[in-house]
Amino acid sequence: MSNRLYGYAGRILRINLSTQEIRKEPISKELVYNYLGGRGFNVRRLYYEVPKGVKPLSPKNKLMFATGPLVGIGLPLGARLNVTAKSPLTGILGDSNVGGHFAAEMKYAGFDQIIIEGTSKKPVYIYIHDEDVEIIDADGIWGLPISKAYDAIRRELKDWRIQIAIIGPAAENLVLFSGIFFNVYRPAARTGLGAVMASKMIKAIAIKGDGYIEVARPNDFERFVEELEETIYSHEQYWPRRIMGTSRILLAANRLGFLPAKHFTEAVVDYAYKVSGERLAIEYNVKNRACFSCILPCSRFYVIKTGKFAGIYGEGPEYEALAGMTVRIGNDDLNYALKAINLANDLGMD
Ligand code: SF4
Repeated sequence: MSNRLYGYAGRILRINLSTQEIRKEPISKELVYNYLGGRGFNVRRLYYEVPKGVKPLSPKNKLMFATGPLVGIGLPLGARLNVTAKSPLTGILGDSNVGGHFAAEMKYAGFDQIIIEGTSKKPVYIYIHDEDVEIIDADGIWGLPISKAYDAIRRELKDWRIQIAIIGPAAENLVLFSGIFFNVYRPAARTGLGAVMASKMIKAIAIKGDGYIEVARPNDFERFVEELEETIYSHEQYWPRRIMGTSRILLAANRLGFLPAKHFTEAVVDYAYKVSGERLAIEYNVKNRACFSCILPCSRFYVIKTGKFAGIYGEGPEYEALAGMTVRIGNDDLNYALKAINLANDLGMD
């Protein structure tokens, strides 16, 4: 049997911001066989490396990004990244999963997992380009909302295709439901991981990889991918999911009677269509966006075309945000909801 770990980049990047030490470690077969990747890698390491009693916003907490063997190899939907730390919101496991392009880029740079330890003395961002890892001063972008900081980093690095994990002012102010954002609009939103990143004084991690990932039997794999794509394309839910993403749940939830209306005190509203994914698709959406190698581009780019918020644009929203800013608070104005979601995103909140 070959010793090679097909489907993996084969290494872990460990950065200690207190000591400025940067280490690249091989992943072991024991880790791969027992924990597979992504959440398994992160949770195992959190359990063994972060002792009981560590305060989530202290230098002893560790912030981890990990991906798995199905990412970056051309498999449809193979784009997920897991972010993990001890949560400042719950005091226990903090774990959030996100799509986008960062996970694949991480593997092309040569890493299945990135572990951030310690705390920087001043705001920094981390730039990773294959073997080169730099810790760069971020004084000029600390405090900026996500969209502006994202552009500033891309300008500084002169690279508009670089993948960036970034936090906003909410995290910098240690808001316990702040997230880490990818591709501007995609957050690893849950459990306050943005605040953990901010406590380490990291505004962003920018990554670029020029490598590739080998699979074990390329011809068989290619046939498998073709079959899988055919199955996905021919599924009856393909087009509804592609056109509306999870935003279509809102109207269905109203029909079935399980909306979180008026903070879960009611289950149906009489204005559901006005704030629905169906209406978004017809009146607001201008194009679809996909995560890395995904053939089901379920994310939608919208523009507000009329009223006092005309010109505001963004990606999404998914069901939770849409329901949260409409039926949950008794708001039937879709423009206001999109404006609020846009603001929450730019500040970096869940
Ligand atoms: S585009 Fe949608 S379906 Fe495809 S990986 Fe991303 S979140 Fe999943």
